[in-house]
Amino acid sequence: MTESKGQGKIVKIFDTTLRDGEQSPGASMNVDEKIVIARQLEKLGVDVIEGGFAASSEGDFESVERIAREVKQPIVLSLARAQEGDIKKALKAVDKAKHPGIHIFIATSDIHMKHKLRMSRSEVLDAAVAAISYARKHLDYIEFSAEDASRSDWEFLVQVFAAAARAGAKTLNVPDTTGYAIPSDFGALVRYLVENTAGGKDVTWSAHCHNDLGLAVANSLAAVANGARQVECTINGIGERAGNTSLEEVVMSLTTRKDLFGLETGIVTEQIYPTCRLVSQITGIPIPINKPIVGHNAFAHEAGIHQDGVLKQKQTYEIMTPESIGITGNRLVMGKHSGRHAFGERLKELGFNLNQIDMNRAFLRFKELADKKKEIYDEDIETVVAEEILRLPGRPDRYELLYLNVNSSTHGVPSATVKLRVDGEETVNHATGDGIVDACYKAIAKITGSRFRLVRYSVKAITGGTDAQGEVSCLIEDGNMQVSGQGAHTDIITASALAYINALNKAEYRRHYRELVAKEGP
Ligand SMILES: [Zn+2]
Repeated sequence: MTESKGQGKIVKIFDTTLRDGEQSPGASMNVDEKIVIARQLEKLGVDVIEGGFAASSEGDFESVERIAREVKQPIVLSLARAQEGDIKKALKAVDKAKHPGIHIFIATSDIHMKHKLRMSRSEVLDAAVAAISYARKHLDYIEFSAEDASRSDWEFLVQVFAAAARAGAKTLNVPDTTGYAIPSDFGALVRYLVENTAGGKDVTWSAHCHNDLGLAVANSLAAVANGARQVECTINGIGERAGNTSLEEVVMSLTTRKDLFGLETGIVTEQIYPTCRLVSQITGIPIPINKPIVGHNAFAHEAGIHQDGVLKQKQTYEIMTPESIGITGNRLVMGKHSGRHAFGERLKELGFNLNQIDMNRAFLRFKELADKKKEIYDEDIETVVAEEILRLPGRPDRYELLYLNVNSSTHGVPSATVKLRVDGEETVNHATGDGIVDACYKAIAKITGSRFRLVRYSVKAITGGTDAQGEVSCLIEDGNMQVSGQGAHTDIITASALAYINALNKAEYRRHYRELVAKEGP
């Protein structure tokens, strides 16, 4: 394997769940949700957190700024185009970080330079150097990306990267922006760059892959085998289009095949599963059941011959253990008689920071659930916390569900009566629909005056049994605003109503925030 100075045996993990991951359709998160994820990423042990693209919106600026203040161990950086305005915003956003950084990018492929940038090769080269030199006056840690590197001319890449290293970039990133690369050619490209770029042995090489052909993880591993010592990834592989490199898959590949790679990461693998679940809860993007590492079936052995083997000796069919990624099993943790202290302790073990959440609300909700459901599992507790607490911390919800009555039979028209508290006032309305969920949503829309259109709706059972909590995720849209909502309840229709109301509350929060920004600036 090719190695270079300053790279050695450690592969740095750069997480971009909060930037590239958030570009997944329907994954938008509010600032408080991003902070919760950033804290968990710190616990997971990632080396770098890309908090956002500060110049892209006021919301992104605020996210990066708050993550920079609250996260201590990892480098926190903001993405920026190779333009002074972007760089100024990014520098300002990471100003309070313990380890601040900036990630400057410019496209280097002929197709991007010609049609998107309308710049010549030498103009692109000059812009990259000017941007890095400018940022270098204000901070130490600069990563430079040649966007669409996998479709760029190799000689031109060598020139641009050499100039970037000379100007002060510490990490040089090779993105497969369009998910076009194949492991053998991507590995060869990385090796070529490491060996031929002047100053290339004194920087860290990084890979940023997209999953359009399902090869993001394979391409990232090929890059590592050829000298890259940083991988950019997202939790659950979420991201633009088909997504990014999945953090859990890359890390567990390097860990499971240490015999082959001989490399380490700083990831606390036992935090992988809680992190993946948290991100899924917050974004409303479910983890596919056959997803490697963290899918529901990842450790389920169905074939008789496999089951027999695993019972005799786990390693016959298991290359890693569920415990190594933090799956503790559906452990029965609590019931009706569990006290506040036990509940608080369990929350801590599950990774929720008690100082930051409203313990009283979560505990009340837990007690309510324990009245309806005998056995409370870790997954139930996580859902209670996510549903009750992560939504709109520090700000009361505008809408609250008070009462719901639905009528449905194999004949007759489904109908729903809903009572909400809106700004403290109780209001009731009634509607019919194609089904009871539809009737319910129409009644809520009548009360709130919502013009949102339902784009996506999904239900899943969180734990087994007919008394399981159902979790509903929905995505609603009005003009250019898309908001996701989640709701959990032992009754699916109530969970559906809660999810819709949750989304409406988030939309209110966003509207309110936008108004504030318009008045006061970010
Ligand atoms: Zn990307």
